[in-house]
Amino acid sequence: MRRCTKILAFVLLLSMTAYPEAQSQESNPAVFRAGAAMVDITPTVFPVIVNGMVEERTAEKAHDALMSRALVLDDGVEKIAIVVVDSLMLTRAMLDDAKKQASQLTGIPSHHMLISATHTHSAPSAMPCLGSRVDPEYADFLPGQIVRSIVQANEKLVPAQAGWAVTTDDQHNHCRRWIFRSDRMTMADPFGQLNVRAHMHPGYQSPNHIGPSGPADTDLTLLSMQTTNGQPMAVLANYAMHYYGSPLVSGDFCGRFGLKLAELIGANNQQTGFVGIMSQGTSGDSMWPDYSKPAGQNNPEAYTAGVAQIAAEAYRKIIYRKDISLAMEEATLKLDRRAPDEARLKWAQDLAAQVGDRLPRGWSEVYAFEQLRLHEDPTAELKLQAIRIGDLGITAIPDEVFSITGIKLKNRSPLKVTMNIELANGAEGYIPPPEQLKLGGYTTWAARTAGLEETAEPQIV
Ligand SMILES: [Zn+2]
Repeated sequence: MRRCTKILAFVLLLSMTAYPEAQSQESNPAVFRAGAAMVDITPTVFPVIVNGMVEERTAEKAHDALMSRALVLDDGVEKIAIVVVDSLMLTRAMLDDAKKQASQLTGIPSHHMLISATHTHSAPSAMPCLGSRVDPEYADFLPGQIVRSIVQANEKLVPAQAGWAVTTDDQHNHCRRWIFRSDRMTMADPFGQLNVRAHMHPGYQSPNHIGPSGPADTDLTLLSMQTTNGQPMAVLANYAMHYYGSPLVSGDFCGRFGLKLAELIGANNQQTGFVGIMSQGTSGDSMWPDYSKPAGQNNPEAYTAGVAQIAAEAYRKIIYRKDISLAMEEATLKLDRRAPDEARLKWAQDLAAQVGDRLPRGWSEVYAFEQLRLHEDPTAELKLQAIRIGDLGITAIPDEVFSITGIKLKNRSPLKVTMNIELANGAEGYIPPPEQLKLGGYTTWAARTAGLEETAEPQIV
């Protein structure tokens, strides 16, 4: 029995949502308040190490500003913080430490803080990932800025009203993982086995593939905060699109989205301090290219404007209420990692010895070092969270979650609208559902970026 002990509490928390808001209004006459802030986390020292690809890269300058965007909510009884950071992924240890500091400064309990990464692939390396090392100076700098964003949002708390909406945007998000025709399986995994039945980026209208390996979650979800006289304060959006691709270093799509939305809804940042936030949904197997069609345009600005336009239309229909109650629950789940067997460990040790002190190059060298890490650290503890804001639900998972998993969570949620935020409170890699593991491909190969046991996904759900 490795079931987490708090699952019952979790389910009870979500069930509480069935209670109408009127009840909480009676028992909680306090005024609902919200505060939002963003703090610049653009690196100040160059060159800086950038992760996000198989091999390490460095950047000499910033293409655009990176931010830590924080939202603090208070219903008079419960106080919570939700933070979205322009970063590829962030370790549990770094985030636990940032939460502890922020808790001391604000009084918000650490277990009432959700901190997630947007998964921009163009940001400084705040944690080691595949062939990239951590940038030590940036990893020292970042947590203090995250703490600052929470402190500032807390200081800006004012009476507020909240509303939410979900709309479909199936034009800007598609499954990126496609299944090879059985007679065209020519790709080997990093361990030399010709077993890749599904893999990301098949190419447009590939004759070698039969189709996507799963659905994309095309929900575009918005949680909006306004002052009680209707001034926009913040929007927390959620969309399950992996990343767009930008010059180094950059906040990429998630970083740009909030600025574009502010422009479209007339929420001028400087005057009102509006904070537009795009959080990462369950996008482990989804991205913007539509491989079922011929190649289209590749324009990050037009793409962001397209998504923001659809968000702005949904935003205008949001109905606000002031009687908002909050609930948040946190649980931990211990899982095994798929550590190498004796033969694979020996292969990895031999290859790592050949590489020596230089950085690993290519899939096999990178995955050889990953086997050593899995062998050294064969278990993981995941922090899972569920939040209720009025009757909107938020789940937080420290992995790169497949879209089908996000859709399952939404369908099982007792709430009408639920958003899932991935790479929250840590980073334990891809969690393909068990049936997807059997198809192989990049998102299944055992590494710190996809290393959890075979039944991790159903246990997390
Ligand atoms: Zn990624």
